[in-house]
Amino acid sequence: MKFNTKTIHGGQHDVDPAYGSVMPPIYQTSTYSQSTPGGHKGFEYSRSGNPTRAALERSLASIENGNYGLAFGSGLAAIDAVIKLLEPGDEVISTNDLYGGSYRLFTKIFEGFGIKFHFIGMENAATIESYLTDKTKLIWVETPTNPMMSIIDIQAAANIAKKHNVLLAVDNTFATPFLQQPLDLGADIVMHSATKYLGGHSDVVMGALVVKDKALAEKLYFIQNASGAVCGPQDSFLVLRGIKTLHIRMQRHCENGKAIAEYLKAHAKIEKVYWPGFEEHPNHEIAKSQMRDFGGMISFVTKGNNYDEAIKIVERLKIFTLAESLGGVESLAGHPASMTHASIPKEEREKTGVVDSLIRLSVGIEDIDDLIADLKQAIG
Ligand SMILES: *Cc1c(COP(=O)(O)O)cnc(C)c1O
Repeated sequence: MKFNTKTIHGGQHDVDPAYGSVMPPIYQTSTYSQSTPGGHKGFEYSRSGNPTRAALERSLASIENGNYGLAFGSGLAAIDAVIKLLEPGDEVISTNDLYGGSYRLFTKIFEGFGIKFHFIGMENAATIESYLTDKTKLIWVETPTNPMMSIIDIQAAANIAKKHNVLLAVDNTFATPFLQQPLDLGADIVMHSATKYLGGHSDVVMGALVVKDKALAEKLYFIQNASGAVCGPQDSFLVLRGIKTLHIRMQRHCENGKAIAEYLKAHAKIEKVYWPGFEEHPNHEIAKSQMRDFGGMISFVTKGNNYDEAIKIVERLKIFTLAESLGGVESLAGHPASMTHASIPKEEREKTGVVDSLIRLSVGIEDIDDLIADLKQAIG
């Protein structure tokens, strides 16, 4: 089955044996009757398993070319489950330009439990090797990174992980399996904030993991059930519905993203545009080889790098909504220095490129003419 068919049919055969409904029923139930103790029809309690969630988990496995999918109550709950594979004393090597919530989870929760994290630039994947010790158990990669749109070579990271017998997990939230499929490139775990492109409609918070290996899936399933951060059947239904249009939404996100990246690059008031589709992007060649297209996430800085001017631009936008998050059908704009990265001291955030005038766009699937006209009136 090809990707555009998998989004619709992957793992969805015979989802309703009772009536043949095309979409799986929303099994809004916490428990299931048993004919005799232990005599159930595959489900006994909805933390452990729910048929609607199971239909979504099969879809997730299918679109990421994995064998096992696990859905969680949020992206961070999915990451939390991955780190719980580790023990005190273990070490993790992580991307430095990282989703803020992942950084907070690693440093404020798991460092307290004795797990050590190294946050490093991975634009040259060979750098990973110099941080490996016999305690390293996991490499955590996010690509493209947020908000600087750096690209990390997944296959090179996977080769290093394999050579040293450590796990490689890839946060595939920004790219989605439409653009890149990390398991095929050698990653062990793919993670998603399904809140973003997979759900695609900004109406649900959810996380996901997909793996190929059975033993690893069993460990993660044990954690999912034991820690209990599962998602409900209604949300499972919504994300399953979202995934069915992922491929056509992504096509338009990419088309609109390219047009806006080029518009901004040619704009007299713009200093720099961060988008992996540009030939001058430092890792454009890797992006080209591991991604099908370049996506709709774009960051830019204005000439003069003025904080107040950037705030005015995002306030003037009318079609782009000023909001956190990304990946929905509607276009969003954010100002990391005052929003997602406000808690990071100015000097620290500027080291990774998050300067005062940096604006991040999640380009939606509206008409491109309206989006460009909106940017034009806001930037001036
Ligand atoms: C949003 C996001 C997360 C966290 O997911 P939630 O669903 O908000 O918990 C993790 N990684 C990336 C790249 C994200 O954008």
